Amino acid sequence: MRDLDQEARRAAHHGPMPELPPDPHRLPPPGDWFASDAAHHLLDRPKFCPGCGSSLERGLISEWWSGEERIFLTWCAECRWTGNVVLFRRAVIEEAEH
Ligand SMILES: [Zn+2]
Repeated sequence: MRDLDQEARRAAHHGPMPELPPDPHRLPPPGDWFASDAAHHLLDRPKFCPGCGSSLERGLISEWWSGEERIFLTWCAECRWTGNVVLFRRAVIEEAEH
């Protein structure tokens, strides 16, 4: 079992961080009103095309919200698939009577 306290102590004694490469996603500065939403967008956005499975790094993904749903308008540069990918907390599914 990992000892998280030990890992935290070890991480704190590594010294100064090395120079990191430029951030290609350019997040707003921490504390800005939109910083948390921008970080969540990077973490939760679709990573691969639902149509062909290619990486969406070269595609386009725009996010908006509708109630509790997070909707990602997604475009794939490889196959040109365009559609919405929706994240939701709950789903209401109706099943026809048998
Ligand atoms: Zn695709």
